[in-house]
Amino acid sequence: MPEGKIIKALSGFYYVLSDEEEIIQCRGRGVFRKNKITPLVGDEVVYQAENDKEGYILEVKERKNELIRPPIANVDQAFLVFSSVEPAFSTALLDRFLVLVEFNSIKPIICITKMDLADEAQQETIRGYADDYRKAGYEVLLTSSETEEGINELAPFIRGEISVFAGQSGVGKSSLLNVLRPDLELKTDDISTHLGRGKHTTRHVELIEINDGYVADTPGFSSLEFTHIEMEDLNGCFPDIQEKSEECKFRGCLHLKEPKCTVKEAYDSGEIPAYRYEHYIAFLQEIKERKPRY
Ligand code: GDP
Ligand code: ZN
Repeated sequence: MPEGKIIKALSGFYYVLSDEEEIIQCRGRGVFRKNKITPLVGDEVVYQAENDKEGYILEVKERKNELIRPPIANVDQAFLVFSSVEPAFSTALLDRFLVLVEFNSIKPIICITKMDLADEAQQETIRGYADDYRKAGYEVLLTSSETEEGINELAPFIRGEISVFAGQSGVGKSSLLNVLRPDLELKTDDISTHLGRGKHTTRHVELIEINDGYVADTPGFSSLEFTHIEMEDLNGCFPDIQEKSEECKFRGCLHLKEPKCTVKEAYDSGEIPAYRYEHYIAFLQEIKERKPRY
């Protein structure tokens, strides 16, 4: 049986890209309703062809992950898009996105935009943060859709992967996509209507092909709450804290105030940036209380 990947879902049809690069318009068979599986964009499927344009999905292969808003499966990586200025860069918001992405086993790529708008002092601040996050093990790209700074570094990351772009409205997500695929002509100022909240439930999701990879046309992680995350999970969502916690001899240590905790020591010595540890503690508290603090 032929196999392929769902790249678009619309009005009960699933558009499957076959291994031969043909688009087959498929319906699901009743079997999905029985098993409570709804095929998602990003799914790898087995299908039966009726002719060279239409068919039926027979089987949805096991997913490596699944986002709810937007509904998309098998996401490899998320570009966390933050502007250097307008709106101002926020480590608290970035750390929140990082936790959500790490928790979903998605590779984060931090992408800081609008570098052309930042003055010298602001650029220096951003470069300092970029160093911190690189030390924590993350890819950090400094970009501008205006001057195309950093675009050549960004583009190769897309190849062969399913990516989502995530970030606040106005940070420059559609501008980046437009630089990468000018023929798409995504409306930049219309982002909130084009990709906005509230429309996600009814709007279709589509993977667009860029640089031999796939990018969701709807921003990822529209809900920023830690609903399914437990306090014990948080350590694993901060690689820099996790690294230090491996040396910590307190089993199940949450690195709060245990005096000899190695994470606490790395914070006291400045080895872990203060804001990273402070966000970790704030998120722990938020999970404990189940209400947002940042
Ligand atoms: P989105 O909501 O994240 O998709 O953001 P947009 O791509 O719509 O960008 C919001 C605004 O910022 C638009 O007016 C863009 O022209 C502007 N913008 C986006 N990226 C850049 C950039 O790198 N440099 C400058 N100067 N402006 C940018
Ligand atoms: Zn500890």
